Amino acid sequence: RETVLFFPSQGQTCHSYCTFCFRWAQFVGDKDLKMASTDAEKLHGYLQKHTEVSDLLVTGGDPMVMKTKNLVQYLEPLLQPEFDHIQTIRIGTKALTFWPYRFVTDKDADELIELFAKLVDGGKHVAIMAHYNHWQEITTDIAEEAIRRIRATGAEIRAQGPLIKHVNDDADAWAKLWKKEVKLGIIPYYMFVERDTGAKNYFEVPLAEAYHIYREAMKQVSGLARTARGPSMSAGPGKVEIQGITEINGEKVFVLRFLQGRNPDWVQRPFFAKYSETATWLHELEPAFGEEKFFFEDEFEAMKNGNT
Ligand code: SF4
Repeated sequence: RETVLFFPSQGQTCHSYCTFCFRWAQFVGDKDLKMASTDAEKLHGYLQKHTEVSDLLVTGGDPMVMKTKNLVQYLEPLLQPEFDHIQTIRIGTKALTFWPYRFVTDKDADELIELFAKLVDGGKHVAIMAHYNHWQEITTDIAEEAIRRIRATGAEIRAQGPLIKHVNDDADAWAKLWKKEVKLGIIPYYMFVERDTGAKNYFEVPLAEAYHIYREAMKQVSGLARTARGPSMSAGPGKVEIQGITEINGEKVFVLRFLQGRNPDWVQRPFFAKYSETATWLHELEPAFGEEKFFFEDEFEAMKNGNT
């Protein structure tokens, strides 16, 4: 309720395509699945009316493929007093990996950096939600320079990415990534579970193994890197985090909780699923302790059917 996702149409491609990505439908021209808007006025009209919204998340594709002048058109008006309730502007991007030149040497890179500074000076919290999968992505001078320039504006960078087989299914690689991020002033934010769409078979990692990798990586890093939450599934009912694997009354279970829920009341409520070596997504899990359903299931079904 507090966050609006905006998909600007000029940002519906990427600098390169990740083979594990679930957003292909947006790129390959299936009009029914496109979620793009060119209408800055519509965005502003909506935000003006909805004063309960505090966060705007600009996403794609990759909004950083857009020219700065397009971003200015969407974001600069938010400095007007009627948008005082919009406290945070988040921009999801993989440009810090795929095209760090976007922030350093592109023709309109300086204007982009100025836009971030202007938003920050105007009182907005600007967060670049950077997609990283591996520490190798932050080993070039240009990648470091892009990070330095963004941070000098007062914008912050939070890092997130999925755990993917054959790429980063390795605790040491995550620990090294988080340490490197912290060194460069980036805040580790999320380890995601590979989604239940797209080329999942090749890239999926069982939840039990994902939790093991997360825990082993966490053990290796200092407190400042322990801000990474996960492993987290962005599922239909909400964002569900695997908090642990334990045994209760002789039954081995996953301890789960909602980080985000369709109903805000679900957030932070612990719930339990039967342990499984092979499950890779929420819908493959069964409730523990002989329960028939998870506590949210009936309400979520009713929501899907439009009955709430
Ligand atoms: S950059 Fe992001 S949106 Fe684009 S293909 Fe990769 S994961 Fe998907």
